[in-house]
Amino acid sequence: PAPRAVDLRELLDTTVILTGHRMDLSGVECTLEVPANELEVWGDSSQLQQVFTNLIFNAMEAMPQGGKLRISGGLLEEEAKVWLEFSDTGEGIAPENLSRIFEPFFSTKGDGHGVGLGLSMVYGIVREHRGEVSVDSRPGGGTTFRLVLPKAGQGE
Ligand code: ADP
Ligand code: MG
Repeated sequence: PAPRAVDLRELLDTTVILTGHRMDLSGVECTLEVPANELEVWGDSSQLQQVFTNLIFNAMEAMPQGGKLRISGGLLEEEAKVWLEFSDTGEGIAPENLSRIFEPFFSTKGDGHGVGLGLSMVYGIVREHRGEVSVDSRPGGGTTFRLVLPKAGQGE
């Protein structure tokens, strides 16, 4: 589809509604702290929705006993960029795995549930939108994925 301006808060609202039932069943409490009508990026809303869905499912899978997922966002005014963070209270990522999680087919979910393509897709879609994705995690200390994307209206 042709790229267009995408309101990230609207898209997150939709994604959280679509995944909300699963989060309730998993005992995951999701909070959204993202300003309305401020975070616009230029791109493909269905691809960006896939990014959000993958990050939310990974967070759920990291919290089998339940927990909290906090989605926050804002503007980096000087750089004309927007940021989003997906922060969970799950099991965290072992340091030796951190550098590999964006590789296709890397998965620690050995029970056949994990294909290992979610984060490589996240990485590819974010790069196609001229953005960056980073992760901060400690075993037992939860995980935060951070996305930074160019704000719409920057000469695209
Ligand atoms: P899959 O979910 O199929 O295993 P992904 O590409 O989505 O594949 O994720 C790769 C790996 O990164 C996972 O197997 C897991 O080890 C780790 N991971 C991703 N997100 C999280 C998270 N929120 N908390 C802990 N580990 C995570
Ligand atoms: Mg996954």
